[in-house]
Amino acid sequence: MANKWVYMFGEGDMTMRNLLGGKGANLAEMTSIGLPVPQGFTITTEACTQYYEDGRKINDEIMAQVMEGIRKMEEMNGKKFGNLRNPLLVSVRSGARASMPGMMDTILNLGLNDEVVAAMIAGNPDSKFERFVYDSYRRFIQMFSDVVMGVGKKYFEQLMDKMKEEKGVLYDIELTASDLKTLAEQFKAEYKNQLGEEFPADPVTQLKSAIEAVFCSWDNPRANVYRRDHDIPYSWGTAVNVMPMVFGNLNEKSGTGVAFTRDPATGEKKLMGEFLKNAQGEDVVAGVRTPMPIIKMKQEFPEAYKEFLKVCETLENHYHDMQDMEFTVENRKLYMLQCRNGKRTAQAALQIACDLVEEGHKTEEEAVAMIDPRNLDTLLHPQFDAAALKAAIPIGKGLGASPGAACGKIVFTAEDAKEWSKRGENVILVRLETSPEDITGMKVSQGILTVRGGMTSHAAVVARGMGTCCVSGCGDIAIDEDNKRFTLAGKEFKEGDDISIDGTTGNIYDGAIKTVDATIAGTFGRVMAWADKYRTLKVRTNADTPQDAKKACELGAEGIGLCRTEHMFFEEDRIAAFREMICSDTVEEREAALEKILPYQQRDFEALYEALEGNPVTIRFLDPPLHEFVPTEEADIEKLAKAQGKSVETIKTIIASLHEFNPMMGHRGCRLAVTYPEIAKMQTRAVIRAAINVQKKHPDWIVKPEIMIPLVCEVKELKYVKKVVAKTADAEITAAGVKLGYEVGTMIEIPRAALTADEIATEADFFCFGTNDLTQMTFGFSRDDAGKFLNAYYDTKIFENDPFAKLDQNGVGKLMETAIKLGKSVNPKLHVGICGEHGGDPSSVEFCHRIGLDYVSCSPFRVPVAKLAAAQAAISEAR
Ligand code: ADP
Ligand code: MG
Ligand code: MG
Repeated sequence: MANKWVYMFGEGDMTMRNLLGGKGANLAEMTSIGLPVPQGFTITTEACTQYYEDGRKINDEIMAQVMEGIRKMEEMNGKKFGNLRNPLLVSVRSGARASMPGMMDTILNLGLNDEVVAAMIAGNPDSKFERFVYDSYRRFIQMFSDVVMGVGKKYFEQLMDKMKEEKGVLYDIELTASDLKTLAEQFKAEYKNQLGEEFPADPVTQLKSAIEAVFCSWDNPRANVYRRDHDIPYSWGTAVNVMPMVFGNLNEKSGTGVAFTRDPATGEKKLMGEFLKNAQGEDVVAGVRTPMPIIKMKQEFPEAYKEFLKVCETLENHYHDMQDMEFTVENRKLYMLQCRNGKRTAQAALQIACDLVEEGHKTEEEAVAMIDPRNLDTLLHPQFDAAALKAAIPIGKGLGASPGAACGKIVFTAEDAKEWSKRGENVILVRLETSPEDITGMKVSQGILTVRGGMTSHAAVVARGMGTCCVSGCGDIAIDEDNKRFTLAGKEFKEGDDISIDGTTGNIYDGAIKTVDATIAGTFGRVMAWADKYRTLKVRTNADTPQDAKKACELGAEGIGLCRTEHMFFEEDRIAAFREMICSDTVEEREAALEKILPYQQRDFEALYEALEGNPVTIRFLDPPLHEFVPTEEADIEKLAKAQGKSVETIKTIIASLHEFNPMMGHRGCRLAVTYPEIAKMQTRAVIRAAINVQKKHPDWIVKPEIMIPLVCEVKELKYVKKVVAKTADAEITAAGVKLGYEVGTMIEIPRAALTADEIATEADFFCFGTNDLTQMTFGFSRDDAGKFLNAYYDTKIFENDPFAKLDQNGVGKLMETAIKLGKSVNPKLHVGICGEHGGDPSSVEFCHRIGLDYVSCSPFRVPVAKLAAAQAAISEAR
């Protein structure tokens, strides 16, 4: 049998998401439970894949099924596509498996041309109807030109603005039928002017081009960026939904709206939404007029409102989750155009998860599974310092569109946002309204402030998705984007001025207000407790200082998986001694310098053990190449020379001798301990003495040092260093006359270590995957230089993700699996963790759970994210 590329809404259901996309599957599901959905069809995601395979062409088989779908649609709706007397107009809508709001394209009112327009008007002499027809026509020309032909929206918007100015009106709604007719003609002329050809009149041609454009939009730059951020594979493709138009712009008895069954910002259980009379869908989102709150619909359209409330209840009971809905009222009758599990802030996600458990909609496991771990770190983002906030007076207010607090320097374009943030500045992006092209600029901004747009505007939706603070729709701002300035509350603000915004209240403040970190409590605490109950993977943190360690423990870390000792050497009072150590000529000289460092290290370790209260601490011995520590300033070199009784020349010669062509693969890691065992000896003494002291002070804790040797590639290397460590440690323990256990393990960060893990494990108590180096060594490119070419790799689809951010499961992951298997085959007690950047990335955490790691270790702020991801991995495995 031939492939089935097209499904009528009546043929599908919500389980068919992979094939029909989220929008299509939900339109089918709503149809099957009897909700009022205009009946159309979905072209499958497989057709999208086929379109790309065929070299970006819709083949005849697919097109034939599309036309068959149109025929069935005509039958069901009693109208005919391209017919003059009773024309069927359609929308052509994208809809991927995972929702990607605003990332792909939609075309409305398709099927119109001069003839159809004339015939429609002739058939209904009402002047209001004529206005509606031209309103739809000008919308269609603009959308088709923009989405299908790539003629920028701005050309049409300029014509629209000119027309409004000429007519002395503020809003599109005030334009008359003849104004809109003129506009439609101007739009067509603009089309011809831009493209050198007539606007296509044939509805079937329009339809085919529109479907192609939607398929094509799967590959547009903003969709590609969005997918990278949300772990959505390129191979999925998008479906296309074709359905009859219902007209919110028909008259004053019509309108369009979007709503959530619960508040997407706070999670509060109350209907939230916006509605616009005499308008079409995208008007609400684009902010062309300020919409009215949904509750007003109750007075304007009592029956439709009542029915809508019923629909909301039905949908929540059906999907057991908060719903985000798009609907239209045509002549007082309600039509549902979309529903989906609504995007929400982290705060709302937690509130809703807890409420759904209380209401019996979800089990604890389901509640844990429904929260996007990536989202959580917004809650760990700063809030305004309460005292500083009290003293501040808001100078303006918009909508609290995405919570959190932010302060920074004002910038006016996405480009500037990137520029300034590259220079290390915090920035607030201020825009009239944002568009999807702004996404990369929004990503680097601390906060986003827009003049136009409601809670569901592009800026609001995208900011919430990214967890970036956003205040939208502050109409009091008079903005001059071209000259990069705006006025608010009588004051002029320029690029670079400080401003603070509160994405929860919508308040805007002049100047910079101090922010403070957030804590885990309330619903957050409750969900994290569930996560703890269901996860098996432990979560540790990467922390080098007692402060970081404390913060991480507050956030739930169960130990330190990586303490980088070298960070301790950079401090003012130690660097001098450390440099002496580096510039020593003899072992004795070196030992004397190390002797000076020992007490500092010991004190640092004691503080860490204190902070961890008996939880495990893995201390990694000196790792980076020594030249990273040597002085570069003349004065510092002189100082060092003096301290060591050497000439400046000698010091300079020593420094020069440390130069390496490829330092990442040079004299570093355990190679330092092999050449200078006295360094490892000193570090061992510091660790063991610290542990003994803290153990003595807290007899009820178990202080058991875990010493980690970096960059091992050969078992004999580890054996050699371990012997030095063990001899030193045992001597310390004997001298102190105490009992103290300790472990010596190794990082696995060189492919050869993974491949010979069965040898290495005979000498190791534990493995810890250093996936930053392991990724670097496996791919053979340095993480510091990858930025130079990764974009080209994304563009050419060679890579979909940055392997330094998201673990490469195929390659690096295979090495990890191999190492675990080999290691445990000779040492069943071997415990295994990961301490690369990946330890806090949800999909990588899931992988670590699957291949049997004991723990992941990540930066303090990622701890709750990792815990939730670990719980989700355990829960989905048990299902
Ligand atoms: P997005 O995924 O960006 O939300 P949609 O495909 O949902 O894009 O379309 C955007 C808007 O267009 C919808 O919110 C809806 O209001 C309007 N729309 C889509 N199809 C129709 C239709 N058949 N009739 C009326 N309005 C429609
Ligand atoms: Mg939509
Ligand atoms: Mg490393």
